Amino acid sequence: MNKDLDLIIIGGGPIGIACGLEAKKNGLSYVIIEKGPLVNSLYNYPENMTFFSTSERLEIDGIPFISNNPKPKKQEALEYYRRIAVSKALKVNLFEKAESVKPHNFGYKITTTKDNYYAKNIIVATGFYDIPNYINVKGEDLPKVFHYYKDPHFFAGQDVVVVGASNSAVDAALEIFRKGGLVTMVIRGNGIGNRVKYWVKPDIENRISEGSIEAFYNSEITEIQEDKVFIKTSEHKKIELKNDFVLALTGYRPNFKFLEKLGINLSKDGKKIPQYNPATMETNQPGIYLAGVICGGMETHKWFIENSRIHAKIIINDIVKKTRFTSH
Ligand code: FAD
Repeated sequence: MNKDLDLIIIGGGPIGIACGLEAKKNGLSYVIIEKGPLVNSLYNYPENMTFFSTSERLEIDGIPFISNNPKPKKQEALEYYRRIAVSKALKVNLFEKAESVKPHNFGYKITTTKDNYYAKNIIVATGFYDIPNYINVKGEDLPKVFHYYKDPHFFAGQDVVVVGASNSAVDAALEIFRKGGLVTMVIRGNGIGNRVKYWVKPDIENRISEGSIEAFYNSEITEIQEDKVFIKTSEHKKIELKNDFVLALTGYRPNFKFLEKLGINLSKDGKKIPQYNPATMETNQPGIYLAGVICGGMETHKWFIENSRIHAKIIINDIVKKTRFTSH
């Protein structure tokens, strides 16, 4: 039983780190709890990934992010956020998962996999990269099916089905094709997603139209077996394809159960947007704040590092105001 804090930050992603920096600058007692390594989501992104943002837009607290090219690579981003956490001596407890939060006196008791903490305020900055949107078909649990893509080399010379048409699916399809994989895309809509990076979209569309990558539009996978997959097309034709691996890159979702356990209301329109006051980022639970991409619910494209790094200052201002008020 220990640690009577002003603030617990759950999630050590870029936005959790930004909140920690801001808390430290304002003299608040805080700790960041991260269930994996530092910036766990970024660490699990594809090895060759390049951010769509230029590096200055990923900066936190005005600390310069120097990259070789205008848009940084994953390894440069890991370096940047790690250097900040280390050089600013942020209090980050890694490989420790926050499991439950209960009201306690004038704040909360937070139970993690390693300890109990008491804090007046909590920032939930847990992102959305933990839970894949499953395609829910027979065979999805086979070891040949992946919901995260790391690297193209593994797939060289293999028959690979990529499900989805968003940035992740398109990047994976192009990389695997260029490393000698035989790629087939299975796409629910009638084209490549509109949010695909504008400089990548012509590349994938041209590879499809020249036949280097096959694409089935208005189609879905209906079953996955050890050596094949079945696809239902718009004409209700059932196609059987020889197959070695399936990459189901159909997006990810926040841990809504965790938000519900905290008593945070979610919108009932299917978007599951958590309730918070945009002026302070405080939720319907007093002293519990949201920061980063978690704010968008199922609309995971709405918030990203560029536009949510500001949450840190908004929240800490509010906590500092309240702390001053209660200490007089
Ligand atoms: P995250 O980075 O997801 O951090 C959340 C953290 O919380 C994770 O480390 C997770 O392990 C931890 N966590 C979760 N649950 C618990 C728990 N119970 N206890 C303890 N810890 C927990 N954004 C941009 O602005 N520009 C880009 O160019 C860009 N490119 C992207 C490319 C890809 C491939 C992807 C997938 C996303 C990209 N984004 C980009 C989005 C951006 O990465 C996210 O917006 C960013 O990670 C959000 O930061 P966050 O701190 O809110 O969440």
